Amino acid sequence: MRYRAIFLASLALLGGCSAVPQARAPQKSTVTRSTQTFTPRPEARQCLASLGATRAAFTPLPDQNYGAGCSRVNTVQLASLQGDQARLALANLGPVACPLAETLAGWARFGVDRAARQILGSPLVRIETMGGYACRNVAGTSRRSAHATANAVDVTAFILADGRRISVLNGWSGASAAERRFLTTIHASACKRFGTVLGPAYNAAHRDHLHLELSGSAFCR
Ligand SMILES: [Zn+2]
Repeated sequence: MRYRAIFLASLALLGGCSAVPQARAPQKSTVTRSTQTFTPRPEARQCLASLGATRAAFTPLPDQNYGAGCSRVNTVQLASLQGDQARLALANLGPVACPLAETLAGWARFGVDRAARQILGSPLVRIETMGGYACRNVAGTSRRSAHATANAVDVTAFILADGRRISVLNGWSGASAAERRFLTTIHASACKRFGTVLGPAYNAAHRDHLHLELSGSAFCR
């Protein structure tokens, strides 16, 4: 009964989510298999509720500490985000911290989807990424990357409803003035929402993606 109450509380809390944490079956000697369970901490639940309010579809994930500066705390697996008129699909995005997911949801809708319609005349339908969590250092340093705590996401390309694919690699300095303007516009809008934004203008390691991270103070390159 207690487990059912937890499950229903999670269901009520997460409202618009596509998935909810699974309740664990009571431990008995006859039980040979059980699903993993967890109850998000109060501060995590607040973010999950805010993310649900954006109408993102996601699954909350249990915290994991991998050691060596790598961990996943209060992370979610995003299935999709909500644009102005339609859902926005996500490609290749692994676990990301909930506050980062919430900021990504706002940028995708109000920064990217609207810029796509205003500048390119077609709404956004899909965002391609190179993932979120990765236990690694900042390239060329011995310092852990924000990716090592699921606090950064690398965005590589945008698919529009008319089929166009605008990639950072080909579009940033590409032949189309409209696509260049679209990419510089969404880069600028990312700088208003994220603490650190790194793109092709920063260095060659970022020629094919925008690195978006909450931490930092208006570091926009
Ligand atoms: Zn990155």
